[in-house]
Amino acid sequence: MPFTEQYDIAVVGAGHAGCEAAIAAARMGLRTALFTFNLDLIAQMSCNPAIGGIAKGHLVREVDALGGVMGEVADAVGIQFRLLNTSRGPAVWSPRAQCDKQQYRVKMRQVLEAQPNLFIKQAEVVDLVLDSGLPDSGLENEARRARGLRLRDGRTVLAGAVIITTGTFLNGLIHCGEENYPAGRSGEPPSLLLGEALKRLGLRGCRLKTGTPPRLDGRTIDWSRFSEQPGDADPTPFSFRTVELPQRQISCHIAYTTPETLRIIRENVGRSPMYSGQIQGIGPRYCPSIEDKVVRFPDKEQHQFFLEPEGLDTHEVYVNGMSTSLPMDVQWQVVRSIPGLENAEMLRPGYAIEYDAIDPTELDRSLAVKQIAGLYLAGQINGTSGYEEAACQGLMAGINAALSVRGEPPFTLDRTEAYTGILIDDLISKGTNEPYRMFTSRAEFRLHLRIDNADRRLTPYGRRLGLI
Ligand code: FAD
Repeated sequence: MPFTEQYDIAVVGAGHAGCEAAIAAARMGLRTALFTFNLDLIAQMSCNPAIGGIAKGHLVREVDALGGVMGEVADAVGIQFRLLNTSRGPAVWSPRAQCDKQQYRVKMRQVLEAQPNLFIKQAEVVDLVLDSGLPDSGLENEARRARGLRLRDGRTVLAGAVIITTGTFLNGLIHCGEENYPAGRSGEPPSLLLGEALKRLGLRGCRLKTGTPPRLDGRTIDWSRFSEQPGDADPTPFSFRTVELPQRQISCHIAYTTPETLRIIRENVGRSPMYSGQIQGIGPRYCPSIEDKVVRFPDKEQHQFFLEPEGLDTHEVYVNGMSTSLPMDVQWQVVRSIPGLENAEMLRPGYAIEYDAIDPTELDRSLAVKQIAGLYLAGQINGTSGYEEAACQGLMAGINAALSVRGEPPFTLDRTEAYTGILIDDLISKGTNEPYRMFTSRAEFRLHLRIDNADRRLTPYGRRLGLI
């Protein structure tokens, strides 16, 4: 007998979008299941161990003001807080926190496990259940409705609405120099069957790319060669509800490439899959790899980067600004060309990943797929890049899936009232042909959309929706 479970809402993926979506739906009183490849990697920070930054900090404040959890979790595990852009006007001030990466996962899982109505499940989702029970039944698009999920272990899960938040996992392909292999991110499998199932639905899509730098062993770094960058003496939390920041605060360090670094990169750039033609996907223009920076700015004599500890109980150090997909032997040479890193040991190499995204113009303002009732998409699958961009979409998709199951009208935000509204409006009306990230310059009314008034703008909605 096939085993069937039933929920009001089923969320696929427990990344930054999926966690917010699941918590929102559960807080609105709906029985919600959250499916993910690996429960130990809930809310994994795939790239830098930091939340916030310019415009991204605004999004975190908005998520918090509406009743989401990213801000409180980051406050609980933040190990260096800085308010950025304070030399300019308050409209563009934005908080950023370096976080303990492992503790971020642990804390988010605690929050999920403490949430009534929410059931977290480890499983691979391989297909959707549509109205007819057959994904390719030939039903007219208008007649299609998502009814649930099929899991790799044979289970069927029925749900009133489905939210897909699979990040970089759909048909993910990792590149490191001349080598490439299927993966969702380093050390995790790709989502191949679900990727194929979504293609069968006939949604338009595109191939995107992102990358990450090597991680170093902090014990092998000569820290005396770099200038220290402490956090703010009076740290600014993300959440309006945070009363104290509990973690010990640490410093990051500022570093620069040398002429030797640039020589090594120039001589080997042809071996980067970005330049050898091996990568077809479009990368994030505003988060270029080190080889990209060297090629695009040939007159620049040095490039800045940052050495950022990944946590309080680890020696792992994130090399912010040195994202690369150069081959391993070249990554070694690049790292060791920097004074202070001559003896550095690499814990994990940098790599690039190509993945499938769905064209967000397939969505309406509630993040529902126009052609398939009851199906919502949020996060990197919609062509965005970044934890914060994912979190605000997850929250909105969770709210709207819950409202649709309750038979209530959708909740949307206007461009004049939130960066979250701008992000969704940009995506669904213009689409994107590169990984989309938020900037304060995208806001027509940015003097009004400040971090200090996010609660006044949005908390009344959060209360009305039952999230606060
Ligand atoms: P993710 O956080 O990726 O979560 C996806 C979730 O879906 C995971 O929990 C996974 O287990 C689950 N999942 C996938 N398929 C299935 C399935 N079939 N069944 C069950 N569960 C499934 N952002 C930046 O802003 N700057 C950067 O420099 C940057 N660099 C990056 C580098 C790399 C290598 C990667 C991988 C990502 C990078 N990002 C960067 C992007 C950032 O990590 C994402 O934008 C963010 O994590 C997206 O959140 P998400 O919730 O959409 O997806």
